[in-house]
Amino acid sequence: MPELATNKAEPTAGFPIHDMIMRFNMFVPRLYNWCISLGFTPGKIMPSRAFCSDENQGYPIIMIAKHFGAFPFNHGVVGGIVATDRHAPHATHGQDMLIIQASHVGYDPENRVFGTYRRAQTTDMECSSSCGKIQEVISWYQNEYEFARHNILLHNEDGKNIIIVDNQLLHQDRNNSLSLRLEKLIATDSGKQPVPLRILSTAKVYSPVQRFVDRMGETAFNGITPQPIGTNLTADMFYFRRDIPQMEEFEHHLELNLLDHMPQIVTSNSPDLLAAQITTQVEFDRTFRTIVKEQAYKGKKVVFIAGLNIDISPQSGQLFPLTKFVPWAAYVQDSDGYYFTLEQEELVQTLQQQSVENSDQVDLEHAIRMMASAEEIKMEL
Ligand SMILES: [Zn+2]
Repeated sequence: MPELATNKAEPTAGFPIHDMIMRFNMFVPRLYNWCISLGFTPGKIMPSRAFCSDENQGYPIIMIAKHFGAFPFNHGVVGGIVATDRHAPHATHGQDMLIIQASHVGYDPENRVFGTYRRAQTTDMECSSSCGKIQEVISWYQNEYEFARHNILLHNEDGKNIIIVDNQLLHQDRNNSLSLRLEKLIATDSGKQPVPLRILSTAKVYSPVQRFVDRMGETAFNGITPQPIGTNLTADMFYFRRDIPQMEEFEHHLELNLLDHMPQIVTSNSPDLLAAQITTQVEFDRTFRTIVKEQAYKGKKVVFIAGLNIDISPQSGQLFPLTKFVPWAAYVQDSDGYYFTLEQEELVQTLQQQSVENSDQVDLEHAIRMMASAEEIKMEL
């Protein structure tokens, strides 16, 4: 089984993966047995999923259909955003309600990196980004960060440390920009305004604030020529402003969810992994409240579970990805209105206590054969 090269030491807004992860084929029967232990009635459960539209989310969907005996209601839009306006139709399609939200990230076991997935159906079985939607959203921010890393320069001029900052990074009123938290980098006057030592054609020269010099170390300023700040431009030193058009509902939801976390994402070792985790966290937090308030779910048993799907590219001879699930949190509601949430550790323990045996699972091939041999029904037109 390929091992995941997660970085335990990385401080993230995301959540732990080690010791929390389970293969999808183990997760789904455990989830089924947990639902039964909560009083769900076999054959009366309407599962739903809020997954991305990617083809690699198909295997998890098939596993849900197999163990719950019903094809899951589509409760999501691209990127793993929950379509909260579909609660009411979901509620009318079954007695007991299950909602599974998962953002996703690919994993390449050969190169041990997150964010890519081998597409077996492409001409040369090429790798491409996964989740492609998340990558598309974060790429603009990565590009801005890349520019900033190369256009903040440190130098020592005649025995004096200086910092040269590109003009674009100094414009605080721009709507589509990476904005520096200048007080962390530049010394200010008594009115807290940064005063340039010198004005260049496309940049300005400043004295760095002493705290910044201490963080960078004197050697960072001692290059023969001005040296880019590079990865020393950490997440606490900047933020993003972005005009995100409010168009159709859910159209830019993913980007809005991630906007405040973009400095952490673009400086992360695994940006796609972190962005997918944050999407899951924000979606659980947001959706939980919409379920509590949803009239159509009143008087019903509801389980809402959120987590991360990790799609490990199929190896030769495999039709599907080896999908793993990392649970994040769950919400449980009883028909009398009593509800509670489970945090990650408790949720994982609860699932691990469940059997992976499920005698109610359906034989999908048999079910398909039955449909093929079923007597024809003539429609009256
Ligand atoms: Zn996706």
